[in-house]
Parts: sequence; structure tokens; C-alpha cells
Amino acid sequence: MKHYDVICIGEILVDIISQEAGKSLVETAKFTRFPGGAPANVAVGLARLGQKVGFAGRVGEDFFGRFLLKHLRGENVITDCLIKDNEHQTRLAFVEVGADAERSFEFYGKSPADLAFVADDLSKSVLKKTKLLHFGSLALTDEHSRQEFDRIIGRRGSDTLISFDPNYRASLWKSEAEAFKILNSFAAKAHILKMDLDEAMLLCNCNSLADVLKSLSFETTQIVAITLGSDGCVLKSATHKCRIPGFSVKAVDTTGCGDAFMAALIDGILSTGKQPKTLSKDELYKIGCRANAAGAFTAMHYGAMSGLPTVAKLNEYIQSNMET
Ligand code: ADP
Repeated sequence: MKHYDVICIGEILVDIISQEAGKSLVETAKFTRFPGGAPANVAVGLARLGQKVGFAGRVGEDFFGRFLLKHLRGENVITDCLIKDNEHQTRLAFVEVGADAERSFEFYGKSPADLAFVADDLSKSVLKKTKLLHFGSLALTDEHSRQEFDRIIGRRGSDTLISFDPNYRASLWKSEAEAFKILNSFAAKAHILKMDLDEAMLLCNCNSLADVLKSLSFETTQIVAITLGSDGCVLKSATHKCRIPGFSVKAVDTTGCGDAFMAALIDGILSTGKQPKTLSKDELYKIGCRANAAGAFTAMHYGAMSGLPTVAKLNEYIQSNMET
């Protein structure tokens, strides 16, 4: 029977990214298509870091779906649970890149294939043996998909960890209040939770990092990572808090930085072989520093997946940037 270190579950889509930073989607005529979807990016990031990783979800039986399937296989992501769906189309996201390399999204595809995913696409025996399940958030906008996610969580092994990135995309939710309720309720099930500062302030109903850090609770959750763009991150457990500065880079496209960070965070935690809650402050700092490096490395490249570092590239990057 196949077993996985990690299975990433949820959205997989094609990012159509503007290649002219600072121009709006209607002003630019230059686009390039890239494979994307946060949990799919995390899967590729983990595979490049040497984890045995599968992706579970659905793509359409169409040009874009075949492109995504081929791409993931080429990246050594196991695709046994990535189903080709002939009733729904692959989701597309148009991405506008601002002059500061920050992005905004327009999603296309009514009833996209990724939302047709069902828990039975994943075998129960495989689920039980997996060390960690990482969930994307777009499926949580849909009631059917929310139920399927809960079924998966109910079928996992007793030691299987859950990680989650709420990845808030306002245009996909009916209201901020709905997103607040649903994302918070799913976040409470995660052992490892990663959010950028805006998402953390939304979910914690706070206006500052200091208030977010005060309001975090550690019942099921064992580690919370709050990413701060070029300023790095904060990692917090019930017992420790680390503020870890970022790496200085010339950013060209920050698409996928959070996913590169998430992949390195998961990889770092699993590599210790320990329960996340038992990690020392020093271990947390090293993991956060490596995750910052993965995020910074990705910011130097276009596209979410193309800039994800391999183990060798990440080590080399950390070494050369620690020396200077
Ligand atoms: P998201 O992509 O989810 O919005 P962030 O923008 O906070 O999340 O980026 C995730 C991580 O990637 C940051 O914590 C940081 O380590 C790294 N990163 C992002 N943007 C930059 C940048 N411009 N320079 C250096 N590191 C960056």
C-alpha cells in the first residue's frame, strides 16, 4: 500500500499572471499561465524539499486539467488521488501584480472541478498512515466541500496532524462575516495554522500583531505562524514565541511566497520527528528562519511553483545570505 508523509487537499488551478507589474488586468496584454492553487503549490514545495507527498483534488477533463496533472507528476507529487472530472472545468485565476509585487485575484469558473472533490477520492487506509494532511481554503466557500473536508478529518489516523492556511480571498465569500465564521471554525481543527497578518487580524478580530498574538488559543492548535511579508514571521506555540526577521530580496512576484513558507514550515516540523507542541524555542526559530528563506527565494521568481526551492537551493540560499 502507498503511504505518504503529507497529502495536500483542495484547490488546484491555473494562474494566468500579468507579466507587467503595476498595470491592471485590462491594461496589460502580457500574460503567462502557471500551475497554481495554494495546496498544490505546497505539495510541489514539499516534494522539492524531499517529502513524499500526494495531492488530492479534482481537475477538469480539459486542456488546463491535463496541464496541471502533467506538471504535478513532473514534480514528483503523487497524483493517484487527483481525479479528472468530466462534468466540471478546471478553475482559472487571473492575477494582477502591483508595482510593489503584491497581487490581486479574479477567479473564473462557475462550479469548478476542485469543488467536486469527495472524501471517497481518498482511500481510508492511505489516510490513516499519512503523517500530515494539509488543507487549502477555497473549498470551504462551498457547503458540500466543507462536509467532505470534515469526513476526511474524521477518517485520519490518530497521530495524523492537520495543517491549514486560511488564504482569504474576499471575492469568493458571500461576506466577511461568513468567512470569519467558517475559516475560524476550520482553523480550530488544525494543529499547525499559518496566516498572513491581514488574515490573522480578520480571524482574531484584532487590529494589530500584538493583539493577534494575545488572542491566539492553543487547544487543538499547537503552532501558529503569522507571516509578515518582507519582515519575516512570528511563530508561536503554547510555550514559546519567536519573532524571526525576513531575508532581503528584490521581489518580482510574491505569488506563492506564503505557500513556499508553508511547505518549509511543514517540512521543518516533520523533519524533527516531534510533536509540534514539544518543539523548543531554538527549534522553532530555525524552522521559521528556513521558512522565511523559502518565501524570500520564491519572491525572486515569477509564478507560484517555479520559484519554490529544492533542498539544495534552499540550503545554498540560506548559507550565502547568512554569510553576508
Ligand atoms: P502570503 O504570500 O501568504 O500573503 P507573505 O506575503 O507574508 O504571505 O509571505 C510569506 C513569507 O514569504 C514571509 O513571511 C516572508 O518570509 C517571505 N516573503 C514574502 N514576501 C517577501 C519579500 N518581499 N521579501 C522577502 N521575503 C518575503
